[in-house]
Amino acid sequence: MQRAGKGRTPRRPKKPSNIEKDPVGVYCRIRPLGGEDEECCVEMISSSTIQLHAPDGLKANRNGEYKETQYCFKKVFGIKTTQIELFEDVAKTLIEDLIHCKNGLLFTYGVTGSGKTYTMTGSPGEGGLLPRSLDMLFNSIGPFQAKRFVFKPDEKNGIEVQNQLDALLERQKRDSQQSVPKTPSSRQRVDPEFTDMINPDQACKFEGVDEDCCYSVFVSYIEIYNNYIYDLLEDAPFDPIRPKPPQSKILREDQNHNMYVAGCTEVEVKSTEEAFDVFWKGQKKRRIANTELNRESSRSHSVFTVKLAQAPLDADGDHILQDKSQVNVSQLCLVDLAGSERTNRTRAEGSRLREAGNINQSLMTLRTCMEVLRENQMCGTNRMVPYRDSKVTHLFKNYFDGEGKVRMVVCVNPKAEDYEETLLVMRFAEMTQEVEVARPVDRPICGLTPGRRQRNQAFKDELSRRLEERGGPVNGDPVQLNQLIESLPPLPPCELSDPSDDQTLPRLMEVLERRYRIRQKMTEQFNQTANNMKFALQQFESQFSSKENVLHDQRSKLGEKDKVIANQRTEIERLEKKSKTLEYKIDILQKTTEMYEQDKRSLQQELESREQRLQKELAERRRMEQRMQGVVTDTKLKWERECERRVNAKQLELQNKLWVKDEKLKQLKAIVTENGGASGGPAEPPRKPERPSRERDRNVAQKRSASPTPLSTVPPVHPMHRRSHSAGGEKWVDHKPASNLDLDTVMQPIIPNAIKVSTPNEKALSKCHRYVLRHQELASDGEIETKLIKGNVFKTRGGGQAVEFTDIETLKQEDPTAPSRKRRSGSGEGPAQTDDIENRVSSNKCLSLLIFVL
Ligand code: ADP
Ligand code: MG
Repeated sequence: MQRAGKGRTPRRPKKPSNIEKDPVGVYCRIRPLGGEDEECCVEMISSSTIQLHAPDGLKANRNGEYKETQYCFKKVFGIKTTQIELFEDVAKTLIEDLIHCKNGLLFTYGVTGSGKTYTMTGSPGEGGLLPRSLDMLFNSIGPFQAKRFVFKPDEKNGIEVQNQLDALLERQKRDSQQSVPKTPSSRQRVDPEFTDMINPDQACKFEGVDEDCCYSVFVSYIEIYNNYIYDLLEDAPFDPIRPKPPQSKILREDQNHNMYVAGCTEVEVKSTEEAFDVFWKGQKKRRIANTELNRESSRSHSVFTVKLAQAPLDADGDHILQDKSQVNVSQLCLVDLAGSERTNRTRAEGSRLREAGNINQSLMTLRTCMEVLRENQMCGTNRMVPYRDSKVTHLFKNYFDGEGKVRMVVCVNPKAEDYEETLLVMRFAEMTQEVEVARPVDRPICGLTPGRRQRNQAFKDELSRRLEERGGPVNGDPVQLNQLIESLPPLPPCELSDPSDDQTLPRLMEVLERRYRIRQKMTEQFNQTANNMKFALQQFESQFSSKENVLHDQRSKLGEKDKVIANQRTEIERLEKKSKTLEYKIDILQKTTEMYEQDKRSLQQELESREQRLQKELAERRRMEQRMQGVVTDTKLKWERECERRVNAKQLELQNKLWVKDEKLKQLKAIVTENGGASGGPAEPPRKPERPSRERDRNVAQKRSASPTPLSTVPPVHPMHRRSHSAGGEKWVDHKPASNLDLDTVMQPIIPNAIKVSTPNEKALSKCHRYVLRHQELASDGEIETKLIKGNVFKTRGGGQAVEFTDIETLKQEDPTAPSRKRRSGSGEGPAQTDDIENRVSSNKCLSLLIFVL
């Protein structure tokens, strides 16, 4: 036997700093005025705001001190608001939360007569929040409720889960104790006051119920009067002779630090009607106590608690999971607070005044608690909240300290007399809205597969269908039994009135024998059927075992397949690994290939650039070759020209020499002839000697530029006018053209008594007899050559001056040790200079004659 699981109301966790919080939801409900002529001081401005006006009398009394004041709420319900509208806005989510294992607290607050009880309980046909909440709860969890006593309160605010057998035994015990079954199965059996409480059309249902859980609802009902707690559901034997005052209850803290009323009756209810019936009994008891004890009913607080225990179904979906940790308990407290008005308003006296003072005290404490809570939350202070100062606040401490959803409906009677009290109610309500309560967290769900209940139901349906098909047992059908009895021969009347009656007994015996035979026959038939059934069962069993064998086989095959699959999986893993390594290798190879290709590309580029360079070099070489060829050709041509020039110069020189000799010879001949002629006759004009190779050399002479071309024409001067050399020494015109190389350091002839000119002019020529032209040039071998072209100055017939060139003197400087080196001729630098100088003075007479006509 499994140990019973044990559940407790959820532990209120210690508040972590990041916990989500919601403000207390405060709603306002305005009841209609009692009479048409009553003065109204409350007006609904919007769906969330109301405005209070001071009544006329009050304004006059206080000199207009009171003004219109507005108050905001989460929602304001006007006088036309129906009970169902209010329920849908205020309590519906609390029921949904309850089903989701979250706690809730809903209370009504206001002055007496403002409609608190109407709002919470309602009236016939106008059910309030309480009956509607019960109705919605049972509409939602109805089909998923656990059997009675499966969940059991443990007297310590927890709920245990019992196994099926213990629960059954308790159910039987209860049934045997009560002659009339407690559970009302229909509405007819319920207190008529509840009959029309809720219109069936207005039934609410929550669709998000976890069908794989089993639920049980427990209700308790307490009253707090004069700071004493009374259990309204307690079954105390009533003694009409000496009525005992009811025993008050105390508050305790359970192991999860939740407050609960110790020893309070918790009744397990299975329907709305049953729950309301329980509530109604409590109400009656409350009324009786009030009357008997002469209590002011509006001065008591009533707390109706709906506790919902739930636990998941096991894996089969048939029974509740016997695991205490899986039992969840949530509760919703519906509180109808005492009237909030001040004591003097009720005009109570004596002990009732004291009691009323206490009750007032509990509402005062509630107000103080809210104030401190608000201050702590808003200012971050840590003032102690005086929950313990009153039973009401102490009982609900966990809602404000721990987690849960708190909602308050502030009831307002708009009549003018209540104005001042209503003002206080409004202020309290406004302040309460600023208090925050930790939002309840979702409970963890069990790890079983969802849909267990449905599967189990489907299985059961299928089983009964199959049994029915095979003519199996139909659950103890009494109709069939009656039919069977009726099919037997009827018993004859067996009353023996006459001792000599010998017919009745034999007739009876006959009938009984017949019945016996029929019975035997039936027994035989039954035995036969039983045998058939046995046989069928055996067959079924063998089939079953064979099926089991097959199943076993299949299982083993499945196991093998599993193994194969596992092997294949490992193989796949291996192959995957291999493929990964191969991919890695491919990757590396691809990278290597890329590198090589890059190398190849760069090498190709290098090759191309080298080829281009080679091509360029080849082109350059070809160009150089061409240039060299050009240079060679040029040099060759130059040298050829040079050689030709030199040959020509040599030829000219030789010709000049020849010509000079010829001339001398001719002059000598002329002298000889003149001498002879002076004695004999006039002398013949001297004939100009003919140059032997003139015609041949004309072309060559035209090419020459260095030496002056000798003219064949006779100068237009008379030879007789030649100045005498002896008359006072020779005077020279030293013509040094400005364009000559400035080589003053080269050996220069020193001509005394000379007029130096850069351009020959008539004046200078007229003063001199001789003329010398300096011509300097670079010789072909790189040496500097100075040529002195000399001539005689003649007066022309026209009065001008003419020069006849007679001589070319060439001065050349050479270094015997380094013939190729250019040497400078320094003036007066030792004897070497004189050694180096070779004066090759050729005193040739110039053949040509230059005429200057100035
Ligand atoms: P309380 O519990 O605050 O003292 P009750 O709920 O007993 O007040 O209401 C006093 C009377 O006012 C009751 O007769 C009730 O029927 C009536 N009443 C209160 N609120 C409404 C309402 N919203 N609509 C109609 N009647 C109301
Ligand atoms: Mg009331």
